[in-house]
Amino acid sequence: MKNDPSVSINEIFYSIQGEAKNTGKPTVFIRTAGCPFRCSYCDTDYAFTEGKQKKISEVIKYVKKFDTKYITVTGGEPLAQKNIKNLLELLISNSYDISLETSGLIDISSVPEDIEIVMDIKTPSSNEESKNIKKNLSIIKKTDVLKFVIGDKNDYEWSKEVLSENNLINFSNIYFSPVHDLLKPKDIAKWILDDNLKVTLQLQIHKYIWGNERAR
Ligand code: SF4
Repeated sequence: MKNDPSVSINEIFYSIQGEAKNTGKPTVFIRTAGCPFRCSYCDTDYAFTEGKQKKISEVIKYVKKFDTKYITVTGGEPLAQKNIKNLLELLISNSYDISLETSGLIDISSVPEDIEIVMDIKTPSSNEESKNIKKNLSIIKKTDVLKFVIGDKNDYEWSKEVLSENNLINFSNIYFSPVHDLLKPKDIAKWILDDNLKVTLQLQIHKYIWGNERAR
């Protein structure tokens, strides 16, 4: 490959997608290393420092060993990688069904149209709420996913307000996900039902399958 830049990779593994629209589907995860943020509930802090530069051609070659069309590019924060667009474009040209998990704290405008963005809007209990990029909510596509990780009632109320203020109450793919082991699923289920909120309650199924072990 003529232009073959590198991306810092923490791990590549084959597992069950535990979240969003492809929940339950066998998926290859490409986890980039590094993240400039520090969310209170982060469950991938090992990716902050553990990473190796890999040529994009090597990444694609490795991914091709797995017999699935589903790829999730996650982190860390993938959009903090200088060459992430090159990797995404090469995955697209190899006809994968790609989702990109990102924090909502970095501008998504350069993400190619063919990628499904799963954007984790940072709630107050993350301690990174002030860094949410408001513009991202106006450029997100109908097919993308908005995820709110909810740690308590205040996060829940705050998330409702964000949806209302940004005319997103009827957006198709909104997931409210309780912080595992912190907020009881039945508590958030009750709030959603009481408010008749048009969101999907998401329990991260990989945590039920593997607990707090790495999902592979
Ligand atoms: S943005 Fe994601 S990887 Fe970074 S600290 Fe927050 S949860 Fe962890």
